[in-house]
Amino acid sequence: MGAIGDNGWVRSEELFARAQKVTPGGVNSPVRAFNAVGGTPRFIASARGPWLTDVDGNEYVDLICSWGPMLLGHAHPAVVEAVQQAAARGSSYGTPTEGEVALVEELVARTPVERARLVTSGTEATMSAIRLARGFTGRDIVIKFAGCYHGHVDALLASAGSGLTTLAIPGTPGVPASSTELTLVLPYNDRDAVTAAFAEYAGRVACLITEAAPGNMGVVPPAPGFNKFLAETCRANGALFVSDEVMTGFRVSRSGQWGTDGATEGWTPDLMTFGKVMGGGFPAAAFGGRADVMHQLAPEGPVYQAGTLAGNPVATAAGLATLQNATDDVYAHIASVADTLRDGVAEALTAAGVAHVIQSTGSMFSVFLTDRPVTDFEGAQRTDVPAYAAFFHSMLDQGVHLPPSAFETWFVSASHDDRAVQAVLDALPAAAEAAAEVQQ
Ligand SMILES: *Cc1c(COP(=O)(O)O)cnc(C)c1O
Repeated sequence: MGAIGDNGWVRSEELFARAQKVTPGGVNSPVRAFNAVGGTPRFIASARGPWLTDVDGNEYVDLICSWGPMLLGHAHPAVVEAVQQAAARGSSYGTPTEGEVALVEELVARTPVERARLVTSGTEATMSAIRLARGFTGRDIVIKFAGCYHGHVDALLASAGSGLTTLAIPGTPGVPASSTELTLVLPYNDRDAVTAAFAEYAGRVACLITEAAPGNMGVVPPAPGFNKFLAETCRANGALFVSDEVMTGFRVSRSGQWGTDGATEGWTPDLMTFGKVMGGGFPAAAFGGRADVMHQLAPEGPVYQAGTLAGNPVATAAGLATLQNATDDVYAHIASVADTLRDGVAEALTAAGVAHVIQSTGSMFSVFLTDRPVTDFEGAQRTDVPAYAAFFHSMLDQGVHLPPSAFETWFVSASHDDRAVQAVLDALPAAAEAAAEVQQ
């Protein structure tokens, strides 16, 4: 093996030390700091297709894919060309452009949203959707599920530890109790908890927001019919159903999770949020939904929302090029790559005697080192974190970059070819042995 060169990761260590002097934790988003697995994050100098190259010249097969966006792989020629051309025309005008219209038309064509507005991050999308839901319904309470992540919106950073129908306490200092005291946090996949919450707060719930298929506590698929149940319960109670597809949108299928189970089960969200893939690696995200709800947004209606860089021409060019190249072949390819990797991981862990459960939604999957299926956040927390850290570092040393946390989704791209897949498969047995040595 010996994927790591003679210099190890000396330059990454130097850069990390420099970064820590000027940026909290040395990173601009916490999970990148490797706190959950220990060690030094690799500073990436460039990437192409499925490969990352760090500043010491080490190459890694990328199974993070920027946490989802890089559906086509890194530096896809069509995306690079679209971005170069857009940038050469000027990068932001603060006036409308054709690219914005075309990108929203794609969203409207592929998903149930009738109107959508572009923003710059998933956080902004969910924040705006909730404001709109509250403005539309004239109600205040928001229901979310423990373990679902909707960006770092104050009202949605609520503790998972509060009781069934107790209004939530903040999950982080800096969020005032007044921001989360109108947020209810319920256990995922628990219909009774949803029914009880709507009964207890009858007439007060503005919306229920859920990941269409959670991927932020590891992959925890909705039980069959769960999203439909949520949609129907919201409707019966005059609340809006907000389906957060920032991660799943255009990743699990051409139209996201709604396209896989919404179309067959017959549920339609009132509002949806998108991000990640739709920006093609640039800051573009969106929220959208029913025309009568979206009509409440300024300037048509009274609910204010705005953004200097919203619909940025370079980001919309990247997003459009990505969606236009996300053909059925792309989804078939990533599904088959994910299958191969899942089988390989299961085989290696079984051979090493490491208890594991691999769960997936389309090509998104994650590996829980536990012996029981995971249906909610509590279950996810039974995963063996030290064993995952050992597994992660063995893979990294052998040139495979997994997500540096046991609670994250693994992502593949259209560019993951046989060579990249084989490199992962070759690394698995030693990583499984490393996990076996420390498993609890
Ligand atoms: C990533 C993510 C967000 C937040 O998006 P950012 O662009 O990081 O702000 C929101 N919801 C879900 C489901 C996500 O996966």
